Amino acid sequence: MRNFTLTFSLLLSSVLFLHAGCSSNPYTDRSQFLLISEAQEIQMGEQSYAQMLGDPKIKISKNPAEVDPVQRVAKRIIAAAKRSKYAERAQSFNWAVTVIKDDRTKNAWALPGGKIAFYTGIFPEAKNENGLAAIMGHEVVHALARHGAERMSTNSTAQLGLSVVTIALGMGPVGSELASQAVGLGVLLPFSRSHESEADYIGLLLTAEAGYDPRESVRLWQRMAQSSQGAPPEFLSTHPANETRISDLQKWMPEAMAIFERSNKASVSALPIITSPPPKKKPAPKQH
Ligand SMILES: [Zn+2]
Repeated sequence: MRNFTLTFSLLLSSVLFLHAGCSSNPYTDRSQFLLISEAQEIQMGEQSYAQMLGDPKIKISKNPAEVDPVQRVAKRIIAAAKRSKYAERAQSFNWAVTVIKDDRTKNAWALPGGKIAFYTGIFPEAKNENGLAAIMGHEVVHALARHGAERMSTNSTAQLGLSVVTIALGMGPVGSELASQAVGLGVLLPFSRSHESEADYIGLLLTAEAGYDPRESVRLWQRMAQSSQGAPPEFLSTHPANETRISDLQKWMPEAMAIFERSNKASVSALPIITSPPPKKKPAPKQH
């Protein structure tokens, strides 16, 4: 076992060495340190996506009233991404969009490689297709800007992430337990402030370019903040709604509005009403 660990560490070091590199964000010029190759990252995204959809607890919506608005928005956001500074990466992604029928879960994510999922529970916060676009623009930028890979490169998860890939490539038996950790690429771990800010800024521009009113993003985050006063949405544990986020969006709004004004505007409709079921019952407090 010790030999295996040693061999594995050496292997890991050489993988780290081979793939170490710096790049910078084409919009913000922020430099990124990346230990994971794009192909590895996409493989982790694909694997996480397959695993999540394979979960028997997941129910995929087939209701056109829920699926169509998400598909319409995705089509425009993806097309805008293909015209953006991420055009090359957006072209190479194998995009797919899924709506998960779960009125209780307020969440949405996009994984490296372009796999997007929206839970119906987030519809009340999104409210309309402009709101869906604001969430999707933000999430898609996390994937396009390689924030997951960067996060894995700069903390201890890097080692875990690479093990996942190694295992995914058929090199080890510990498979699925570790693979489930790859979900951390885009779903479970909170992004850093700089990643959040970058996703807000570029997401705002992408949303406007796709023909959606960027001003809805401010209202969206206000609704998020509002709903966090009860049971906080899952989305907020990875994307905190705070004053800085909203004031930054307002600061960037003139730039986004200029893009929106000359865009091919989307027709926007309200989302179907989802009445979130009450949180799962806890035992009632004892009466005295
Ligand atoms: Zn985010």
